Amino acid sequence: MTALKDILLRQIRAEGPISVAAYMSHCLLHPDHGYYTTRAPFGAGGDFVTAPEISQIYGELLGLALAQSWLDQGAPRPFTLAEFGPGRGTMMADVLRVTKGVPGFHAGMQLVLLEASARLQAAQKATLAGYAPRWIASAQDLPEQPLLLLANEFFDALPVYQFERGPKGWHERQIGIRDGDLGFVLAAPQPPDAFDPRFALDPVGTIIEVCPTAAPPIEAAAGRIARQGGLALIADYGGWRSKGDTLQALSNHAPTPPLKDPGAADLTAHVDFEALVRFARLPHAYAPQGRVLQALGIEARAQVLAGRLSGAALDNHLAAARRLTAPDEMGELFKILALFPPAAPKPPGFA
Ligand code: SAH
Repeated sequence: MTALKDILLRQIRAEGPISVAAYMSHCLLHPDHGYYTTRAPFGAGGDFVTAPEISQIYGELLGLALAQSWLDQGAPRPFTLAEFGPGRGTMMADVLRVTKGVPGFHAGMQLVLLEASARLQAAQKATLAGYAPRWIASAQDLPEQPLLLLANEFFDALPVYQFERGPKGWHERQIGIRDGDLGFVLAAPQPPDAFDPRFALDPVGTIIEVCPTAAPPIEAAAGRIARQGGLALIADYGGWRSKGDTLQALSNHAPTPPLKDPGAADLTAHVDFEALVRFARLPHAYAPQGRVLQALGIEARAQVLAGRLSGAALDNHLAAARRLTAPDEMGELFKILALFPPAAPKPPGFA
């Protein structure tokens, strides 16, 4: 049993069931036993691999899309280049390398990162040495100026609440004790009219997830973009509106039951992009990752890089480009949401 499981079992025995959201927060960010506080989760040696860790092309294409939007909006300076949940800093390093040649871009940018884990902040500092990033404690601290924002697999790490529809209303699905172990229990029903109207017609038995902690960062970013200009590109797995129980734990690249080893496995839930758009109240574009990357020219860029490679390096490179775009890999399950100001043209990649 992990140390965190022992702590949670004792807490629940003493005080009663906890929300799925509280469980996720403990598992991911507990100061002593949280997954992101204690582990180096990314890459082949970690528990999961994200798109920017699969290939440099991913960050390059998204970085060029940001820069093109910035040019389309008249290259305003100064502006913020920000990332929420930058992990090891890999994607931002690719963005910075590829935008070096865009006149005025580096001179006008202020690099801002939002990262909860001190350990990952240290990794970002090392990766991005030379660019003087500033870490903010909350998205509210984003400077009041045009904003170019990236977030890759950030929103899936934010805690969700689960609800199940019963005959008398929505029951919160909580984590309590069953057969001496952590297990799901249902709380007393809340009247349906106290609930998100999007789910009003869902039948008995439906499970949905809501993520209220996604609202403040989206609202803060969208406010800057609405008033000052810019673009947000938000990539994650999920869909348009929450459907079902998507709480998922990954350990060593394989799924594991989400209540089994709290703190020792990564824990995520699918992102409800419709909810993000409702928080943002901005024009948006939304498409599967594979389609956006293709529209941004992933094939041409992959060809250029392939020309410099041979043998196993070439094979790995081609497999990586396929993994990012193929519908049976990340191309369909992952989506990219663009949020942009009312007066701006649609960003590149979303024609
Ligand atoms: N974007 C990176 C890392 C994704 S993992 C990549 O694609 O490889 C999720 C990232 O979000 C981690 O850096 C994690 O520490 C950070 N994170 C999770 N919850 C957070 C929160 N509430 N506030 C700030 N950062 C958070």
